[in-house]
Amino acid sequence: MEQPMTPIAPIQKSIRASSAPLASLCAASQTPDPLVVASGGKQADLGSAGHETLACRLTGREFDIGDIASKYEVDRDELAVTAAWLWSSWLKVSEYFPVPRSEVPLEYTDEPNAFRLTGTIDVLSDCDGLRILDAKTGYLDMDFSAQLRAYSLLALKNNPDHDRVYAAVLHMRNRKFLPVSDGREHGYYYRDELERWWDDFAKHLRSGAYNSGKHCQYCRRSTTCPKITGELVQARRVLTEQLIEGTAEQIAELLPNDPVELGRIGVMVHDALSLFDKRSKVWKEALKTRINAAGGEVPDGNGRKLVVVKQEQHPLKATRDSLSYALSVVPVEQFDDVFGIGKGALEKAIKATAGRGQKKAVWEETLQKFEAMGCVETKTIERLEVHQVASQLEESHEHGDSAV
Ligand code: SF4
Repeated sequence: MEQPMTPIAPIQKSIRASSAPLASLCAASQTPDPLVVASGGKQADLGSAGHETLACRLTGREFDIGDIASKYEVDRDELAVTAAWLWSSWLKVSEYFPVPRSEVPLEYTDEPNAFRLTGTIDVLSDCDGLRILDAKTGYLDMDFSAQLRAYSLLALKNNPDHDRVYAAVLHMRNRKFLPVSDGREHGYYYRDELERWWDDFAKHLRSGAYNSGKHCQYCRRSTTCPKITGELVQARRVLTEQLIEGTAEQIAELLPNDPVELGRIGVMVHDALSLFDKRSKVWKEALKTRINAAGGEVPDGNGRKLVVVKQEQHPLKATRDSLSYALSVVPVEQFDDVFGIGKGALEKAIKATAGRGQKKAVWEETLQKFEAMGCVETKTIERLEVHQVASQLEESHEHGDSAV
């Protein structure tokens, strides 16, 4: 007779609140990867060390900045600056967080979704309602609202008598105090909305779906991730096969049609080319130095040689004498082709003679005169640049934040 099967307990997954911003962008970022060695990085270590100094000060514990710097293996002076900033900023917002507890570890197990959420809240106050503060020492280059939601949910799940939590970010680099503004009331998250958010978030995480983008730079899987590897192969193909041999039209044909894919590959290729460009200058300088030391040329052993070619250039300097002589020998109809006006140098010279507070006006008046003479050209130059996309958190708090 067939034995009844023992029910298998669902595999329980776990996520830290601090991983929620990346996880909300890419569920696969939380997939365990045996090839990955976990490392927080220098900035994260400095942040952790800074938070420990804040926790010590809030609880009245004495500490030695050097000991904490050694513990986290960070620079003592950098930590002293971070610690001083955290404390002075805290003092400016402390009235919002009466009787604060710091570095509060919390967890919540969601049985139906078989998921565990953990996190350590920087500052938690349970005196005049539930209030949490997340002090950030790094860059706000991702939308951190998922992290704040996760901390807020943890706070509410561990304090069942509350139904809302005041949540805010204290950001060191921007000198900003940012209360959440996407709740029903400015600064608050509510239990029911957080539970709905968590339910969707847990399902998203269980999907394990990949979504690559700028955020991949923060992912511990970025060196082994199959999605990234595939994209790098495509970018490398564009760079190596087509860049060397293809025409601009052929390369354009090869690039993806989807604007997001085009942007992703485009940024990768642009970054690789910029790096190549920058490094190529350094390499050329290094080679010139060594080849000059070796007599100005070196053979490659294959019938070719690398040579430092010296070429003297003789740019003409525009002086009163040289200009008046040039005017006497150049036919008048060729003046436009021969004589150029250096706009930058002219602006500098005019501003140097204008009185204080008059420089801009005098220069604008000069430009208008040149425009009236028809000798100001307007050219549109197109150049590629990679820009940051403003984080949603910063955008959402554009009107509600305050400097600290
Ligand atoms: S590297 Fe990017 S795509 Fe790959 S798992 Fe990490 S975040 Fe997702």
